Amino acid sequence: MEKIYLDAPNLGPVEKEYLVKCLNSNYVSTVGPFVPDFEEEFARLLGAEAAVAVQSGTAALHMALHALGIGPGDEVIVPSLTFIATVNPVLYVGARPVIVDVDPATWNIDPVGLEQAVTENTRAVIPVHLYGNPCQMDAIMEIARRYNLYVIEDATESLGALFNGHYTGTFGDFGCFSFNGNKLITTGGGGMLVTGDRERAQRVKFLVNQARDAARGYYHPEMGFNYRMTNIEAALGLAQLSRFRELLARKKRYAVIYRETLGDIPGLQFQSECQGGESAHWLSCLRVSTVKAVKLAAALAEEGIPTRRVFMPVSDMPYLREYARPCPHARDIYEHGICLPSSTLNSDEVTKKAALTIRRVLLG
Ligand SMILES: *Cc1c(COP(=O)(O)O)cnc(C)c1O
Repeated sequence: MEKIYLDAPNLGPVEKEYLVKCLNSNYVSTVGPFVPDFEEEFARLLGAEAAVAVQSGTAALHMALHALGIGPGDEVIVPSLTFIATVNPVLYVGARPVIVDVDPATWNIDPVGLEQAVTENTRAVIPVHLYGNPCQMDAIMEIARRYNLYVIEDATESLGALFNGHYTGTFGDFGCFSFNGNKLITTGGGGMLVTGDRERAQRVKFLVNQARDAARGYYHPEMGFNYRMTNIEAALGLAQLSRFRELLARKKRYAVIYRETLGDIPGLQFQSECQGGESAHWLSCLRVSTVKAVKLAAALAEEGIPTRRVFMPVSDMPYLREYARPCPHARDIYEHGICLPSSTLNSDEVTKKAALTIRRVLLG
């Protein structure tokens, strides 16, 4: 079978053109026109008021928490099923993560569990639009309003996903994106915060530049960070952004192909969209109740089909044990779920062939 990729990036002539232009300008570091251009284009695409480019999705989440003044004594609600980079920034600012189980159909934080986890110390919630699938944002925003909580969306996997016609990342106080090599668009490594509040954006811009007061030379009125994106990364980002619709459409086609080919298999369920949600399908994922993920992944690897395990529930990490609570849905999805080849390098034909092979393996 022709090679099929799990989540490799898709780079072509446009990317080369932008990178050469950047090199020729000699502005490869944190000064240069591509950074503000990338921020503006990104904000415009999402319909957000402002955007700030940073070094990674993790840095974006860290800056959102820091800029909102969250720290020791505060609790931040996170889902049990996510990449660890959702949780670590909560510890960076000295707050306590409160881990809530996910919904078994959407794999995203369960709004009922979220509300039950609120205490008088809760300051924020970080809903994660897992694998590109939007969270139930109307319910989450309503709970946040009622309990006066900040909402920081972890939209690192969900660029292009919609809830009630609006892009994920534009609902909360901040939306955080990642441009790691395996995400929908890449800058090699990078991230972005979007916000509806220009002052907040200015504040983050200041914090990520070592909190430097440029008007007074090297004067720093508070502790800052070096989380700036470089011009060379932003050049790559702008090139990728110009292909956003093409890349997103590919992901959506794979989701249709997998559903058409595998949807009738007994015990098999795809990660499903909530009411009002339209997934970006960053990775097409499924769960098969009759087989363990380890076994299925091994059988598919023998057929030349790369897959990846679903994230391990975050409370399994030794340094997070003290925050652990039972999260049976996250555990079940971890044990039975896998992510299928979803790289935008894959043709529809090779994806269809892979889907047919998966079908054969499952129905063996
Ligand atoms: C990729 C990712 C991040 C972090 O992004 P980086 O750019 O790798 O730091 C955070 N949360 C989730 C759910 C992710 O998938």
